[in-house]
Amino acid sequence: MGGASDSLEELAAQIGVDAKNLPATVNRFNKLAEQLDDQDFGRGKTDYDRFYGDRSREGAGATLGDLAKAPYYAVEIRMGALGTNGGAKTSAQAQIMDVDGEPIAGLFGAGNVISAPTGSVYAGAGGTLGPALTFGYIAGRAAARRVNR
Ligand SMILES: Cc1cc2nc3c(=O)[nH]c(=O)nc-3n(C[C@H](O)[C@H](O)[C@H](O)COP(=O)(O)OP(=O)(O)OC[C@H]3O[C@@H](n4cnc5c(N)ncnc54)[C@H](O)[C@@H]3O)c2cc1C
Repeated sequence: MGGASDSLEELAAQIGVDAKNLPATVNRFNKLAEQLDDQDFGRGKTDYDRFYGDRSREGAGATLGDLAKAPYYAVEIRMGALGTNGGAKTSAQAQIMDVDGEPIAGLFGAGNVISAPTGSVYAGAGGTLGPALTFGYIAGRAAARRVNR
């Protein structure tokens, strides 16, 4: 769901939210953006935020700018998982290991349900999809060969 309008009230109607709350929320955001202090969500307070922001601007300003110029746009944001922190250990055959480090018969894993093959680092784009596809391929082949039944 999304929308676009020159008026915040009209945009609110398009996306099915209260016509008074949206302008009030935008006004508050603009005030905090002007102060470069997002007290509501802490935007711009971490190095990570600022790194992915507009680095031509100083400090929290890299991620905070007022919403003052029409047209206004709305897009629906949904939760997603980039990767996991932890997860089941696997062998190079994509076998899930038990707490003693032995493969569990008939259990294979790939993607976000296993411990990240790259450890605690995300080396860049493809850092999760690449291993997920590779381990999925290995798991499928290993399961077909019945390596641990
Ligand atoms: C915004 C965003 C950007 C990303 N960008 C990149 C990128 O540039 N490069 C990169 O390498 N990785 C990227 N990733 C990470 C990558 O998309 C994931 O690591 C990858 O999709 C994980 O694959 P998966 O198969 O393990 O899990 P998923 O793709 O999450 O698949 C799990 C599936 O299981 C289904 N499911 C869940 N519960 C049940 C149930 N009970 N019964 C049946 N089905 C169920 C879900 O609907 C889903 O389809 C990004 C992730 C996000 C959210």
